[in-house]
Amino acid sequence: MNPELRMLYQEVIIDHGKNPRHFAALEGFTHKLEGFNPLCGDEITLYMRVEDNCIQQAGFTGHGCAISMASASLMCEALEGITLDEASALYQRFRHMVTSSEADFNPENLDKLTVLAGVRTFPSRIKCATLAWHTLEHAMKNETAPVTTE
Ligand code: ZN
Repeated sequence: MNPELRMLYQEVIIDHGKNPRHFAALEGFTHKLEGFNPLCGDEITLYMRVEDNCIQQAGFTGHGCAISMASASLMCEALEGITLDEASALYQRFRHMVTSSEADFNPENLDKLTVLAGVRTFPSRIKCATLAWHTLEHAMKNETAPVTTE
């Protein structure tokens, strides 16, 4: 990745980390789940309002490092208006992005989420980036017991 692009990515992560979008508990949610990343101390509660298999609204509360907050913020932005199946597919692509080698990576259909691609070079931060998604995956199965990345 070229240095200018990396710089831009860092700016987006810092911006979303400091001023997360969708940072609120939802009224009238249909799904709510807590997720923890004990490695870093990140904690989020994810809320979604799903109607007819479509995510109408997504939001989260919690605290943690900039990467975990930015990832949850960007994820909630990406989720609104898509179906649960599309959200699962997006999670698979996101997970592949942060765990694959750079050469193997195809950013197709990841849009703004590609700003988090850089975490793949910091293995200890991958769970910070995947916490929100891991929580989403379990929330979509209607689970209610808190999940952990461990
Ligand atoms: Zn973290």
